[in-house]
Amino acid sequence: MMLRSHLSFGLLAYIILFVNAVTLPFLGTLNQPGLLATVFYLVGLITPDIDSPNSFISRKVRAAHTVTNIFSKHRGFVHSIFTGALLTLGIGFLLSLKEYDLAIAGWFFIGYLIHLLTDAMTPHGVKLFAPLSPYTLRGPIRTGSTHEKVISLLVYSAALLIIAKNFTNLL
Ligand SMILES: [Zn+2]
Repeated sequence: MMLRSHLSFGLLAYIILFVNAVTLPFLGTLNQPGLLATVFYLVGLITPDIDSPNSFISRKVRAAHTVTNIFSKHRGFVHSIFTGALLTLGIGFLLSLKEYDLAIAGWFFIGYLIHLLTDAMTPHGVKLFAPLSPYTLRGPIRTGSTHEKVISLLVYSAALLIIAKNFTNLL
């Protein structure tokens, strides 16, 4: 999926979570994220494509891409729920040292998960449980296709409608 599609689904999920309190075990309630939680959410949303040579994140953080590439090809184990969980644990550990709210790590994980689920809509799919299982979750939407652009636009529109309904007097 293209970056803008990840961002559109990311925005929709963020808005839905923002207006509904969601509580996760260990991580607390995820409503009303602060600035830091939002930044971590965005980082989680774009981090999985560190395994792709031409992605936004790989171009920004070349060194991290080079290191990742030694171990993984595009949509290999980096596009796995376990890698997301492992990174979340690491972030949670670092946050706890500084006595930050652990929900920030939860937001990172949700961003990561939204990225994986969005990629799972493509024919290439995602090995969600790699390396434990080769099961690939796939969908019919080709990356860069008109379908993807239309869906991305619809998702943005849905997010904007929810924003307009909850935070303005327009609707
Ligand atoms: Zn991806």
